Amino acid sequence: MTQVAQTLPLNQPSTQTAFTGLKCKECGTEYEAKAIHVCELCFGPLEVAYDYSYLSKVVTRETIQAGPNSIWRYRAFLPVTSENPIDVGTGMTPLLQANRLARRLGIKRLFIKNDAVNMPTLSFKDRVVSVALTRARELGFTTVSCASTGNLANSTAAIASHAGLDCCVFIPSDLEAGKVLGTLIYGPTVMAVHGNYDQVNRLCSEVANSHGWGFVNINLRPYYSEGSKTLGYEVAEQLGWQLPDHIVAPLASGSLFTKIHKGFQEFVKVGLVEDKPVRFSGAQAEGCSPIAQAFREGRDFITPVKPSTIAKSIAIGNPADGVYAVEIARKTNGNIESVNDAEIVDGIKLLAETEGIFTETAGGTTIAVLKKLVEAGKINPDETTVVYITGNGLKTQEAVQGYIGEPLTIEPKLDAFERALERSRTLDRLEWQQVVV
Ligand SMILES: *Cc1c(COP(=O)(O)O)cnc(C)c1O
Repeated sequence: MTQVAQTLPLNQPSTQTAFTGLKCKECGTEYEAKAIHVCELCFGPLEVAYDYSYLSKVVTRETIQAGPNSIWRYRAFLPVTSENPIDVGTGMTPLLQANRLARRLGIKRLFIKNDAVNMPTLSFKDRVVSVALTRARELGFTTVSCASTGNLANSTAAIASHAGLDCCVFIPSDLEAGKVLGTLIYGPTVMAVHGNYDQVNRLCSEVANSHGWGFVNINLRPYYSEGSKTLGYEVAEQLGWQLPDHIVAPLASGSLFTKIHKGFQEFVKVGLVEDKPVRFSGAQAEGCSPIAQAFREGRDFITPVKPSTIAKSIAIGNPADGVYAVEIARKTNGNIESVNDAEIVDGIKLLAETEGIFTETAGGTTIAVLKKLVEAGKINPDETTVVYITGNGLKTQEAVQGYIGEPLTIEPKLDAFERALERSRTLDRLEWQQVVV
């Protein structure tokens, strides 16, 4: 790993660049677009600022549709200057109408935004990393890094390989095997830390200060987090340039939730979609639900917790954007709910059995919360509801091991097959009778 020069853009600024710098979300102080993420005056988080009047002049539905079939069709809304951002086909994942799941739950218009099949590493994190590494390259970093709950490490390692950047990632040492393997395969340096994500994150803040690396979710966080806006843009475009009535999304740091909101608002601001109220509901695992607790208790501050849940990818005990997520859920008349580990497993199975989508624990959490909200009357059956599925089940196989039955093992003989089939039908009937009585 080599040292980095923190010089400014190597690439020529594009004529379509609308981002003007960074701005403190709390006190509004403006900063140059460098690798910084905290306000020097009030310690508030920095966010990317744009010239929206310029954007409304140059961007139309047609210019977007003429762009690539990836997040980069929205490049004008993203904080990069390169004409050639790192494009590994991230984004434009399917928006599926989920009729069978909707019927099962008793609602009418349900859509799944399926980032379980995002490219290249099968989670929504490919969006934020594509943006962060493009910006890292522009800022002259040659080594990139992250503090990860699993998916971010997969994505950072993969996209760094594609871009020819050196990579060192930090993960908690107790992650699922699929997440660890899905990072190691790309050949980065992997630091497995004895500790939870919040401890990993604290360590990384120190490394970021001393090594001059580009940490996608620390010193590059303002750019990184903007990548999640594309989850809002794509849904609006895929619904035929309309906003939904209600969205349900998982919450870890709370970033993706707040950025879907920012994405919808920006599309309204520049005239790409008509304004309308969208309700924002968030999902957490009970074993790590500091944002849901704050929402439930009507607090405007987060009390950190120590995570203990199978939903490791969203197990952040001290969520950076928690207060903003609570604020959005409250002001949009949404909700933030939590579900226990057994409900998360049921959520994974329900989505697989009704829609043919195998999601990881974060998706199981979101589906279980969706079900809970419908049952509590907190989702109107007539609302157009979009559920964000953010990761792939093949990476967290441990979570469902022992809950999904087993194959019928038989001899290669027709009568063995017939007997096994009869036995399985009898079993099905028995199960069915148990459900009925
Ligand atoms: C990281 C992650 C999230 C949550 O991201 P935040 O922006 O930190 O709230 C949700 N789902 C999956 C699968 C993730 O990996």
